[in-house]
Amino acid sequence: MIDVLDVTKTYRRGEQQVDALRGVTCHIPRGSCAFIVGPSGSGKSTLLYLLGALDRPGGGSIRIEGSDLTAMSEPELNAYRRDHIGFIFQSFNLINNLTAIENVLIPFLPRGITPEQRERAERLLGEVGLGDRTHHRPRQLSGGEQQRVAIARALIKDPVLVLADEPTGELDSKTGDEIYRILRRLQAEQSTTLVVVTHDRRFIRPDDIVLEIQDGLLRTDAQPQPGHLA
Ligand code: ADP
Ligand code: ADP
Repeated sequence: MIDVLDVTKTYRRGEQQVDALRGVTCHIPRGSCAFIVGPSGSGKSTLLYLLGALDRPGGGSIRIEGSDLTAMSEPELNAYRRDHIGFIFQSFNLINNLTAIENVLIPFLPRGITPEQRERAERLLGEVGLGDRTHHRPRQLSGGEQQRVAIARALIKDPVLVLADEPTGELDSKTGDEIYRILRRLQAEQSTTLVVVTHDRRFIRPDDIVLEIQDGLLRTDAQPQPGHLA
């Protein structure tokens, strides 16, 4: 589970200060699917970056499965991010001169790839429906196929948390539906927690957690959703 307690974040731009988050508290149970929604500039990406250990809050604390991110040193934070968090981006972020399976294996590259890891990558590509595309390069794949490679890459280390930033922002709506179907299926199978920033509320289901941010604050009336009570 994820516990965010009174988290603040202030950016400094020259003389100016921007209070991107002004005291956000929320709880995301393990294995759930949470959506961060709200107007542009409200602090959604900032919250996602903090959950992803890509940045540190100014105040408050963030615990993920008992690990206190705010108490970690910089190297510990980097190691935590690499070993336990999967990222999915709007623009896929694949490496063009690597094949699909090589892209999925990127998280293992620094230490060398074992046959078991290669097998797992093949299995994951099969599970996202790309069993016959393992040696294609990104340019030979459609946008939806590229995002499926990115999903496999995000899941290869069996992360406790998968973070997605507008994962269907560059896809047509039919392809977007398919991406969410795959994401949810794999999330359920691996019982990982999924947190998604999106503008598109049509993907939200009654049992999902909705974190509605407005001007750096959580709108508490938007959470928890009725399906989560009892
Ligand atoms: P959202 O994802 O909801 O669009 P962000 O979290 O990106 O919102 O941004 C929240 C606020 O913080 C905005 O006012 C934005 O301009 C500001 N902001 C975000 N990142 C930075 C940064 N690196 N430096 C300065 N201001 C930033
Ligand atoms: P380092 O700072 O140690 O060079 P990076 O921050 O570049 O490492 O990348 C570490 C991880 O964070 C990678 O998995 C990368 O995909 C992810 N990442 C990098 N930048 C962003 C971003 N702006 N938003 C979300 N994830 C990011």
